Amino acid sequence: MFDRRATDRLWSVLAAFVLAGGLSYYALALARANHAPVALWLANGALIGWLVQKPLTRTWPLLVAAFLGYVAAKLSLGDALLQSVLIGPCQALETVIVSESIRRRFPQLGAQTRFMDLARVGIVSALVGSVLCSLGKMSILELWTQPNPWVSFNTLFRAHFVGMAIGGSASLVAAVPALRHFERRRIWIVARDLVLMTAVTLGVFVESRVPMAFLIYPPLLFLVFRYRFVGMVAGMLILALVISLATTLNIGPFNLVAGVTPAFRVVMAQVFIGVSCFVALPIALALADQERLRNGMHDSELRYRMLAEHSGDLVMRIRPNGDRVYVSPSVKELLGWDVEEFLQPRPDLIHPDDRERICAEVAKLRAQGGTLTATYRLQHKDGRYLWIEAFARLVPSPDGHGAMDIIYTGRNVTERMRIEQALLESRAQLRTITDNMPAIIARIDTTWHYTYVNRFVEQISGQTPVQIVGKTVRQVHGDAVYDRLKHYLERACAGEPMLFEYEAKHDDKLLHFQTHYVPDRDAQGIVRGVYELTTEITHIKNVERELMRLAHQDSLTGLANRRYFSERVSGLLEQAQQHNVPVLLALVDIDNFKTINDTYGHATGDIVLAEVGRCLQKLVREGELVARIGGDEFVVLSCDIGNADHAQAFTQSLWERLHMTVDAGIGQVAVKMSIGAVVCKNELSGDNLMKLADEALYQAKEAGRDTFRLLSRGFDGNGDGNGKSKGKGPQHGDGHDEPVPLRKAQ
Ligand code: GH3
Ligand code: MG
Repeated sequence: MFDRRATDRLWSVLAAFVLAGGLSYYALALARANHAPVALWLANGALIGWLVQKPLTRTWPLLVAAFLGYVAAKLSLGDALLQSVLIGPCQALETVIVSESIRRRFPQLGAQTRFMDLARVGIVSALVGSVLCSLGKMSILELWTQPNPWVSFNTLFRAHFVGMAIGGSASLVAAVPALRHFERRRIWIVARDLVLMTAVTLGVFVESRVPMAFLIYPPLLFLVFRYRFVGMVAGMLILALVISLATTLNIGPFNLVAGVTPAFRVVMAQVFIGVSCFVALPIALALADQERLRNGMHDSELRYRMLAEHSGDLVMRIRPNGDRVYVSPSVKELLGWDVEEFLQPRPDLIHPDDRERICAEVAKLRAQGGTLTATYRLQHKDGRYLWIEAFARLVPSPDGHGAMDIIYTGRNVTERMRIEQALLESRAQLRTITDNMPAIIARIDTTWHYTYVNRFVEQISGQTPVQIVGKTVRQVHGDAVYDRLKHYLERACAGEPMLFEYEAKHDDKLLHFQTHYVPDRDAQGIVRGVYELTTEITHIKNVERELMRLAHQDSLTGLANRRYFSERVSGLLEQAQQHNVPVLLALVDIDNFKTINDTYGHATGDIVLAEVGRCLQKLVREGELVARIGGDEFVVLSCDIGNADHAQAFTQSLWERLHMTVDAGIGQVAVKMSIGAVVCKNELSGDNLMKLADEALYQAKEAGRDTFRLLSRGFDGNGDGNGKSKGKGPQHGDGHDEPVPLRKAQ
């Protein structure tokens, strides 16, 4: 079973066979019956319309069918098979030359095809095709009967060229719907016009009394004007068929010419057809091109209108006097006004605050040309104002006379303006907040330039935000601070939040800052900068320091207190062990202090304590620690004692120097001390040392006070390692070495 496409193809092949065969038979039979040459050869052009639409690889079956049709026509008229078969390719060659020339130049024939170009390609290719075909045909025919080759070529060429021009055009019009315009008229009007043309042509060419061939021009031109290219083709087809038929049959005005052969009459008929063709053709082409352009204009106007009318934007064309030639229907939806209400200039609808500005900008546009973009408020019919973003362009008026119109498009941007306004307000609020924060808030981009900084920076650095934004961190802070910040900034740019403190000098004051760097990431999580929050913490640092001091200092004597001593002692013992040096810890207790208090009063007791503290402070040097650890009890820790002998000398010297007489205002108070000390190596426990020193102090007190006792631990050659030294104060009569002078505290 054939599918539908195969059936269609079979029908078109059959149609090509019948069309080419029929037209060949008609032309040959008519000429032979009247012993005249062929006046018009339409068969070769008959397939052009179908061949131009597809490549030859797909249309060759039509050509073969036409060839067979031609051979069949010849054979049915009794011609030799060989002659028919030899001439057939010449006919096909002409057809192919014309159809391929047109197809290659115009792959898509349609309403936008330029008819002038189409005609030029058609005529040139028809000339070439006709010449080649006629030469081929003539050469072959000469083998049989033709007596005069030149006459033979002439007649053949004319019949082919005129036939191709008319037949080819007719088949193009028949096969390519886009080239036809009959549809636009009612069919009976078209039929009437064609009948009129046929009647006039028949009237002129069927009678042989009066030469009135020129009478065919009015109906022919009428067809041309009314139906453009198609009209010309139809008119010429009617004309060519009637004239060739009449002339071949020896009737019509050409028979009035006396003494000419039928062949010459055919020549006259061909010339007449050709001349008619070249009279009608330029008019038809010019009109067809005009129509094509007009259609193009119409289409583009339609497209423009469609865009304007279906767009939500307001579109207007405004004359120089302000009248609106066109207002898109969207005005109703946008502003509530009917198109008719909007045709007059309506400056009253522009918000009073914007009116002057907009009028000035429109006047400038009219004076200088170009374009204008403006955002302004227009009043809706219900009274509220809408923000409109308008774009206007000055264009030449289609009415001519050099006038310029304005093409205006306006869009409702109220919502956008509301959002922008809200955004601006929120930015202003944010700025107000940040500017009044007692901290520096800034943003640094990945090239380490400041892109934002709040006003507080001015209070710290003296530089305004305008001076800072755009500068690099290095330029703003200087090299020294930059070197400290660099590391944190690098890590923050790598995506790590940073919190750190640093110091910087401003106006010769050392200020402390705490900075928080927070990475600023985009939607993809890529760091695009760093937010900085910097607080000045100098006062906090000062308070902190004061608190530390208070927590670690004895307020009466100014010496370190017990807590500070306890915090430091283990660190100092570790250091001493690392350096393998002995340490000495001495507990100093005022003898009979209660009695001083009781005798001279508590205030005097305080004076005595302060004086002892001052004296101890003077005696110790760097690396030695002295503290008041109880009511009248003090401690001295030295980590640079050298050896046990030095410890002995040190303790004794301390004891001696602490003998003092304090002027308490109401009398002189003699102050005496007892000291219990311990010297040892590799002892890491402060508590152990304190216990040992306490034991020594106890011994000193037991021994009657005003003396010292020194224990040693961890030294070779001191027996059980529990060596003891006694204080050798003169009042005890123990006899002692010269005291080792203590170095002054630094
Ligand atoms: P000893 O020779 O045995 O040390 O006898 P003492 O009288 O010195 O006795 P002890 O050391 O035990 O007494 C310390 C006294 O110091 C007890 C207390 O009243 C007094 N005291 C403690 N703190 C202060 C102070 O801040 N100011 C004054 N004025 N006296 C204080
Ligand atoms: Mg005491």
